[in-house]
Amino acid sequence: MDLGLDGKVALVTGAARGIGRAEALVLAAEGARIVVNDIDPEGADAFVRELAGAGHAAAVAVGDVSLEDGARRVVAEAAAAFGRLDVLVNNAGAGGRHLGRKAEDLDIEDFDIIVRTHLRSTFLCAKHAIPAMRAGGFGRIVNTSSMNVTGGGRPGVTNYSAAKAGILGFTRTLAKEVGAEGITVNAIAPGYVATDFIATFSPEKRAVITGQNPIGRFCQPEEVGALVAFLCSQQAAFINGALICMDGGKRDFHWGDA
Ligand code: NAD
Repeated sequence: MDLGLDGKVALVTGAARGIGRAEALVLAAEGARIVVNDIDPEGADAFVRELAGAGHAAAVAVGDVSLEDGARRVVAEAAAAFGRLDVLVNNAGAGGRHLGRKAEDLDIEDFDIIVRTHLRSTFLCAKHAIPAMRAGGFGRIVNTSSMNVTGGGRPGVTNYSAAKAGILGFTRTLAKEVGAEGITVNAIAPGYVATDFIATFSPEKRAVITGQNPIGRFCQPEEVGALVAFLCSQQAAFINGALICMDGGKRDFHWGDA
């Protein structure tokens, strides 16, 4: 099936590694021209060189998309790189040391950085991308929520769950604001995806998680990329304001703090 992405320009935030990188690779394979954003300049540059080396049109837009100036500049650079902007994949995310404490022990900085990196960046990039999409008469915005929303999350990630739930609410409402203009807005809710984050898990924890999943394994980043490419396609024009779960059917958490 031809997804109709040939020549479309796609900005993927946080694309230097992990899921964003995989999303960019699938979009590029479908013919889209890719703008790689990340806060990590070396990683973003290296990925752009890799894409170009494989014959794909690619450009870089380094910056922190959780900041108003950063997001505005990144989106402007993306629109300028190839003269249009058709697709925005809001993927940039942070976790690590900002996660793992229950709400009563959580510093406001840890709450704010998670909400800012996930939710505020999603708002800011969408806000600045919509005029460029409107000018081109086509737009696809895909936001990254999480199984933490559909399943409630495990103790220690209230900040992350709040940010990802906020992304869902933002998605559903923005979809109503721009749908009539040919711009769709959807959210994806992946379960555990085999990225660097999963690689830090102990073999025991990996076994518990995959053992509880109906499919019996982690999601692969390329699978998320394929879902995103479809949501960005011409064929997905009537999918708007949706939350698409990609969790193998495992929508909640039962292993405690394992
Ligand atoms: P990752 O940490 O491997 O990659 C995230 C990328 O975002 C990094 O390259 C990082 O440098 C970049 N980044 C961080 N802050 C940024 C900012 N302010 N501006 C620009 N770039 C920034 O993460 P991942 O596992 O690939 O996850 C990607 C997204 O998918 C995140 O939103 C995450 O919450 C979500 N998600 C991941 C999983 C999973 O199991 N890995 C599951 C559900 C949802």
